[in-house]
Amino acid sequence: MLRFASLASGSQGNCLVAEARDMGGATRVLIDCGLSLRDTERRLARLGLEPRDINAVLVTHEHGDHAGCVFDFAAAHNVLVVLTYGTLRALRAEGKFHDGVRTQYVRGEQKVPIGAIEVCPFTVPHDAAEPVQYVVSDGNARLGVLTDIGISTRHVEQVLSRLDALVLECNYDRDMLWNGGYPRWLKERIAGPFGHLDNQHSARLLSALDRSKLRHIIGAHLSQQNNKPEIVRDTLARTMGCSPEWIGIASQDDGFDWREA
Ligand SMILES: [Zn+2]
Ligand SMILES: [Zn+2]
Repeated sequence: MLRFASLASGSQGNCLVAEARDMGGATRVLIDCGLSLRDTERRLARLGLEPRDINAVLVTHEHGDHAGCVFDFAAAHNVLVVLTYGTLRALRAEGKFHDGVRTQYVRGEQKVPIGAIEVCPFTVPHDAAEPVQYVVSDGNARLGVLTDIGISTRHVEQVLSRLDALVLECNYDRDMLWNGGYPRWLKERIAGPFGHLDNQHSARLLSALDRSKLRHIIGAHLSQQNNKPEIVRDTLARTMGCSPEWIGIASQDDGFDWREA
């Protein structure tokens, strides 16, 4: 059984938890840890978990909203950190690395087992040192998490096909971004090929996937200035041919509650 929940999603911090069980018991991993240490602990409690229940943190890239307290959390609670060498180097350069924390390097497309969870990192275009995103599986159900990607690629669409659950970046509405108050350089960075996906791009990516097994689709990393949950729900529902209420939203304040993949 594979279940998952979000502690928070958005530019103020991202953190998702996935849990699988086998004969050896439960394995739980966080994907990213971009909140403060206290906030992470508080939000884990909201989901009925304690920090010692977490086996590893999988890091996507070094941006603060993803890697904020990864090493503080890992050092405080003796948790393994899984990341690319490029991400580690970037975090070390920022002084965010703690000596003595257990780390495991991954590369895009190289699967690694963490207890009952099979972790599959995959490479994405984003303005970071060596960014990856993750598919996690209990050997049966597969959950894909994709945020912080500038443009979709054939490779990403292959990796995310035949998932049971997908948490998908829907960062901004194009009109709201370009008509909004951000400085021009920031608008160009967000909308560029190493920035973020807008709702239309996310819908197009979704339409390119084999969705035959997909039972959960959750819009994530929504900009609080340049997007609205209703637009995300309507846009993704049109692609899925389903009712907008069926589309989940990962919010900044609440993330989302446990779901079974
Ligand atoms: Zn981000
Ligand atoms: Zn980023």
